[in-house]
Amino acid sequence: MNIILFGPPGAGKGTQSQQLKEKYGLIYLSTGDILREEMAAGSEIGNKVKDIISKGGLVSDEIVVSIIKGRVGDNLNAKGFLFDGFPRTVRQAEMLDEIMNGFSLKINAVYSLEVPEEILINRMLERGKTSGRADDNINSIKHRFVEYNEKTRPVLDYYKKQGNLVEINGVGEISSIFDNICKEIDLLAVSH
Ligand code: AMP
Repeated sequence: MNIILFGPPGAGKGTQSQQLKEKYGLIYLSTGDILREEMAAGSEIGNKVKDIISKGGLVSDEIVVSIIKGRVGDNLNAKGFLFDGFPRTVRQAEMLDEIMNGFSLKINAVYSLEVPEEILINRMLERGKTSGRADDNINSIKHRFVEYNEKTRPVLDYYKKQGNLVEINGVGEISSIFDNICKEIDLLAVSH
């Protein structure tokens, strides 16, 4: 079972993913986490992306796609993958399908967490007080939404056309949102 947790910045993808990967035994691939690790390690990739990330821009498709291809290839015996924060452009979504095809795998479902923008901005400013993330400040947050609306939102249509999109209300208690995602995943498991 290979699934994508989709949603705008601050929608709760990371929080929900932590519980989902445990419950379903999935390999968790968050491009944001991987890129932050690269920055912390001072690697070549990390140095290349740090200015873009701190300003809230999107890193190039080539960089994130090659990271994902490597991680999927390294874990071919996994029960499944949980992608968080990837794909973020239609090109990335197309490349992900190619990568998965190449390994005789496919994306089974995309869960989109729906949260209105004004709630998101407040959540992220709140998170910025403790997250230590260079991009949780108002200017970078605004730029992340511009990038999301222009480049990432169209990814929803890509998966809608494939019939893989499931919308989930992302407002409310963390545990009830989790339960709703689990219900959908369990339906998917039954239908396969
Ligand atoms: P996140 O932790 O998912 O909010 O990602 C933090 C930042 O990392 C984003 O604002 C982008 O700068 C970069 N990033 C993470 N994933 C991607 C991706 N799939 N494509 C491009 N940039 C990404």
